[in-house]
Amino acid sequence: MSKFNWTDFGIDKKLSAIDRDVMSMCQEYFDIVEDIRDTNQLKVLNSFIELEVGAQHLQGSTGYGYGDIGRDMFDKVFAKSIGAEDALCRTQFMSGTHAITVMLFGVLRQNMTMLSITGTPYNTLRQSLGLGDAKGGSLHDYGIKYKQIELDFNGNIDIDEVIRNIDDVDMVYIQRSRGYSIRNAVSPEEIGRISSNIKDINSSVIIAVDNCYGEFTSASEPTEFGADIMAGSFIKNPGGGIAETGGYIAGKNSLVELCAERLTAPGVGREIGSNILGYRNMFLGLYMSPHITCEALKGSIYSSALFELAGYKVSPSFSDSRNDIITSIEMGSENKLMEFCKAIQSTSPIDSYAVPVPGEMPGYETDVIMASGSFTNGSSIELSCDAPVAPPYNVYVQGGLNLVSTRYALLKALSILGNNNDC
Ligand SMILES: *Cc1c(COP(=O)(O)O)cnc(C)c1O
Repeated sequence: MSKFNWTDFGIDKKLSAIDRDVMSMCQEYFDIVEDIRDTNQLKVLNSFIELEVGAQHLQGSTGYGYGDIGRDMFDKVFAKSIGAEDALCRTQFMSGTHAITVMLFGVLRQNMTMLSITGTPYNTLRQSLGLGDAKGGSLHDYGIKYKQIELDFNGNIDIDEVIRNIDDVDMVYIQRSRGYSIRNAVSPEEIGRISSNIKDINSSVIIAVDNCYGEFTSASEPTEFGADIMAGSFIKNPGGGIAETGGYIAGKNSLVELCAERLTAPGVGREIGSNILGYRNMFLGLYMSPHITCEALKGSIYSSALFELAGYKVSPSFSDSRNDIITSIEMGSENKLMEFCKAIQSTSPIDSYAVPVPGEMPGYETDVIMASGSFTNGSSIELSCDAPVAPPYNVYVQGGLNLVSTRYALLKALSILGNNNDC
């Protein structure tokens, strides 16, 4: 019998009873994500063992970084852990958007056509494609054609429409995560099915995946199911809450090499890039990532269950299978949205005393509010939430390094917002 008592921490008896019910509703779904965690943990551990990671690989380098053995070893260990032929992991990728952009510019050439089959890509990428008002340097600027196919009525990939439009396409682009929209995340298995459908018709198509928020949420990655290349961020899942910055591109060796030439300079490629701080936190973060991603998934399942029980519209449901770490909760009013974000901020380990306020963000039509009290600036494997301040006032919650802190934050939020069933 658990001796832990919520009332010692300011959560009242009624809510502690709700927490108990929610935890038992969640148990069978926690079991599923723990199995995924265990598979991924041993894939990662065995990659470290088979490639013989040693203390020497944790050290840093200076200047050009020629012969940086830590950097080169991390590329190999990461690639093996996610079942990819090759990977380019760098602290010099400044964000997920940067890594994805390098992937696109690395692979695409003038007159090639990129087809997004998951609708409009994530907000921060729209300028890179040439869909925004960027001052120049977009794919469009370089003569690369862009087309997109909307998701179908149920939020799934419209495979018939994709097949009808595949003839003159060079790259198919898939965003695995829901990002900040109400849709389903795409599973690696589904990416595999779609890739083989596409390649049956046009075998030269390159399948590229925005894998942000997807890493280690299933027992396999898109590159193990037919994706040719993918990219993501180390301040999300694969950094385990420990890596301080960086991103990766992983997939077929020939494509990863092209991206390395684009990131640095042609002819120089992956041979340069120093890291004075060393690679300890990248290796440790990767090692912790299956566990930390599981904690975030449990937090997501818990959030859905708690708010569903309290009469809120959530997506995905607590019982749905997950392919990213995001939960959206419909707040229904601006006031409730603000209160929710305040509660998340006030229960964060860092900057708990700050009060989030809405502000303008490039790429958004409405003001956006964000709550994040994280050890790493902008980290969203740590508990955080974001929302456009517009009806229906959906808040997107993600991350959470440990389940009990996520439970605490959400119980605090619910105690302020109140039960939707009451009104
Ligand atoms: C976070 C994210 C990105 C962009 O990453 P940043 O690090 O914020 O630049 C792209 N796509 C998806 C789906 C994401 O979740």
